[in-house]
Amino acid sequence: MAEKSGVYIDPWGATLIEDYRRVIEEFGLEPFTDEVLNQLPNPNLLMRRKVVFAHRDLKVIIDAIVNKKPFYALTGIMPSAEKIHFGTKMVVENLAYFQKQGAKTYLLVADLEAASTRGVSLKEARKRALNFHIPAYIALGVDPKKTIFYFQSENRKVMNLACELSKRLTMSELQAAYGVMTPGKVVAALLDYSDILHPQLEERIPGIIPVGIDQDPHIRLARDLARRTKVQYGFIPPASIYHKYTPALDGTLKMSKSRPGSFIELPEEPESVEKKLWDAFTGGRETVAKQRELGGKPEICVVFELFKQHLIERDEKLNEIYNKCKNGDLLCGECKTLATELMNKFMEEFQNKLERARDLIPSLQFIK
Ligand code: SF4
Repeated sequence: MAEKSGVYIDPWGATLIEDYRRVIEEFGLEPFTDEVLNQLPNPNLLMRRKVVFAHRDLKVIIDAIVNKKPFYALTGIMPSAEKIHFGTKMVVENLAYFQKQGAKTYLLVADLEAASTRGVSLKEARKRALNFHIPAYIALGVDPKKTIFYFQSENRKVMNLACELSKRLTMSELQAAYGVMTPGKVVAALLDYSDILHPQLEERIPGIIPVGIDQDPHIRLARDLARRTKVQYGFIPPASIYHKYTPALDGTLKMSKSRPGSFIELPEEPESVEKKLWDAFTGGRETVAKQRELGGKPEICVVFELFKQHLIERDEKLNEIYNKCKNGDLLCGECKTLATELMNKFMEEFQNKLERARDLIPSLQFIK
């Protein structure tokens, strides 16, 4: 997305966003305020802690939830890697949240996108999706009995709509949104808009797309296309929520698949988890004495961010760690030990659920 500053938010890259407030302003998002939070029934951890920081038109979805009106939620699996990272975990948790609130839920495998932008064959994408990604999404909370699954390459409606939508955009608009475009990226972007909007071909109901902020260009253009095709299709512009990045373990960039030491994958072996966490950037002081005297800085600490986003469910426990850190009553070694224990426990549970979910795969129906 081109901005006043000339910065592009690139859904295919790893751009650093330092100031989320600036992002809200420049991209025309709505902030995820307490008022919005308080209207959501049983908000999840990411919402309660404002890891979800912005939205578009969430009020439309809140209205549907509160008044028990139909709506849908949708996300896509990108089978370009054999594992997933913690940013994907957040998308799945938010999708599972809306599913629990009654959303008609779609989970698609973006195999055509993986082929056109990452060179992954359709056969390989299918294998990865069935062996790992779909079971992983189920392990992280998606209910397979209440989910509609499909592969982009098998869904005629999605392909046909992508072609129809292609007439409503120009190359300059795509370049303004994404920066340099290749033919593969054009194909992928059109399929994304079509994935997002196609549930409304059946039923004009609002939809919510939980994403990381780097995916906003897809949302913005899908919304534009909904307006441009109003006479033909009457689509309701899709709503969205945005979560912050899980920072890289060195404290600088978001976790990125292109820098293996910068992130923890799902699943990952305990020895590797331990080493990475012990090397992680913290908000600790240079010496124990200074830490005791001045306290640490949890605001910039990657270990604390992992507690906040992923590892500690109880708000009281998280507050206790925050306060003890600020008061100098906690040392970084203690936190890293706790983080390692919690992460390994999480990995063990994830692995068990993954195995159970794999048994369900042969019984899943994929729409075409
Ligand atoms: Fe982070 Fe814990 Fe160190 Fe505080 S004590 S800076 S929360 S690792």
